[in-house]
Amino acid sequence: MKISIKTKLSLGVGFQFLFIVVSVVAGIVSVNLLTADTRNILRDNYDSVEYCRNMGMAVEDMGSMATAAQIFSINLDLQLHNITEVGEGELTEALAADYHAFQSDPEDPTLQARIRKHLHDITKLNMDAIHHKSEIALQSGRNANIIMGTVGTLSFMFALILVLNLPSSVADPIKEFTASIKQIANKNYAWRIDAQRGDEFGEMAQSFNSMAAKLEEYEHGNLAKMLFEKRRIEALINQMHNPIIGLNEDRQILFVNDAALSILNLTRQDLVGKSAVAAAQGNDLLRKLMQTIPSSEANKPAPLSIYADNKESYFEKEIVQVTMGSPGEAAEKYIGDVIILQNITPFKEMDAAKTNFIATVSHEFKTPISSIKMSLQLLLNDKIGPLNPEQKALVCGIQDDADRLLKITQTLLDLTQVESGHIQLTILATEAREIVEYALDATKVQAQQKGIRVAVADTTGGARILADKEKTAWVLTNLISNAIRYSHEGATVHVTAALLQDRLRLSVRDTGQGIAPQYQHKIFERYFRVPGTLTEGTGLGLAISKEFVEAQGGHIGMESALGAGSTFWIELQRER
Ligand code: ADP
Repeated sequence: MKISIKTKLSLGVGFQFLFIVVSVVAGIVSVNLLTADTRNILRDNYDSVEYCRNMGMAVEDMGSMATAAQIFSINLDLQLHNITEVGEGELTEALAADYHAFQSDPEDPTLQARIRKHLHDITKLNMDAIHHKSEIALQSGRNANIIMGTVGTLSFMFALILVLNLPSSVADPIKEFTASIKQIANKNYAWRIDAQRGDEFGEMAQSFNSMAAKLEEYEHGNLAKMLFEKRRIEALINQMHNPIIGLNEDRQILFVNDAALSILNLTRQDLVGKSAVAAAQGNDLLRKLMQTIPSSEANKPAPLSIYADNKESYFEKEIVQVTMGSPGEAAEKYIGDVIILQNITPFKEMDAAKTNFIATVSHEFKTPISSIKMSLQLLLNDKIGPLNPEQKALVCGIQDDADRLLKITQTLLDLTQVESGHIQLTILATEAREIVEYALDATKVQAQQKGIRVAVADTTGGARILADKEKTAWVLTNLISNAIRYSHEGATVHVTAALLQDRLRLSVRDTGQGIAPQYQHKIFERYFRVPGTLTEGTGLGLAISKEFVEAQGGHIGMESALGAGSTFWIELQRER
């Protein structure tokens, strides 16, 4: 039978209450019965005995005491009105009759004897009744004991059953619930409680089960959603044209897209979940990709040349370090890397086309410009014919322009050499002095025009460097020419040649306008000119210088303070 906890408790407490009431009522009834019995004994029978005793004494005193007859009459009258036992009435009547006879004939001794006998009989009758009634009272007492004992035992047994059963019937389901809640807390949403019970715990179990079912559904729903999101991101990465490879913090490959698989010539099974280091051992390209990029901007690696899309393609590699912050933690945690390759082939192709175009155009320009210069030379020759001063000034102007045009054309040609990666070097042991002299000579006129003094300090003592003399001289000329152009009139430019262990450093220091810190890292980029520079220029000189110096295994650098001037230097390998 299914009984609810409330009913159980109500029944238990109700029965206990009933037993208490029954015990109390039984007690009261028993005590009342006993009291009534005792009272009966005392009141009626005892009174009769008392009357008889008084009458007996009065009979004895009848001759000597005047009041004896009066006492007898009063007690006889009282006894006549206190008839309680069977036969007592007849005896009392006989007593009264004998007493009346005695009053008329006091000397008759038989009458006195009969009166005494009657009194004795009535007393005995009442004493017997007292005895009988005290027996009944005793029996009532015993009965009361039995009833009270039975009710007490029943109540004790019931209380015992209650004490043994009730706590466990309440505590056990609570224990089961506690354990089940712990299961849910541990995300075991499939956990269920047996709900086949008719009490309140049964209802609770049903509610618990439906909660667990909803959580399970929610969890599955969330999982499905997360899986869908994961697939969406995978599809997105897959559809990107740039090859992408994702690694975790242990260098294990997490994902790789189709573009990456196609250039690596591997399948997804070969890579995903595998150690990238192990996989790289059998794949040259992957090994190259795994090498980290040097951080400095200046050492940007050359684009990777990879055979992809059925042609030689160029990719720029970027390794993005992935970090993630977790709630409550201030520092971001490193969780892996993503290698991204950017296909720069179209730009490379455009760049090559541009370089070719510039090379062709500047090459084609050189011949006509040279012939213009020759013609101007002839024009200035008096043997051809005299020119008036205005004509001479015009021709000189044209000659200056032609010179500049030729210089620009030469610079562009140098640039095309740099860009096509075909810098032709003739490395020979050369004295630093020679290079410095060549550069000084080339910038002499420019310095004179601006009233600038070029001070030379050569401490190399005829040391020789391994360099392409022409190109290094070109670079130094360019640096001195910049120093003159960006210096104030009448200033001094310092050219220094000094030894540094296995290297030789050539530096050019000016006291000109200097370069603001935010532009310094871009100064060697092609076509870069500090914004607001008024002096004419192409922004190519320093870029070409850098290429020339680095092609020879040397270094180029600068220090500058805005308003205080700049120092540009190159370092080249010394002859051993
Ligand atoms: P160009 O001088 O033809 O513009 P460069 O590559 O030689 O090209 O120089 C790039 C830029 O660097 C210049 O436009 C100029 O703003 C700055 N620069 C180069 N040398 C100096 C120098 N000595 N002092 C100040 N600025 C300079």
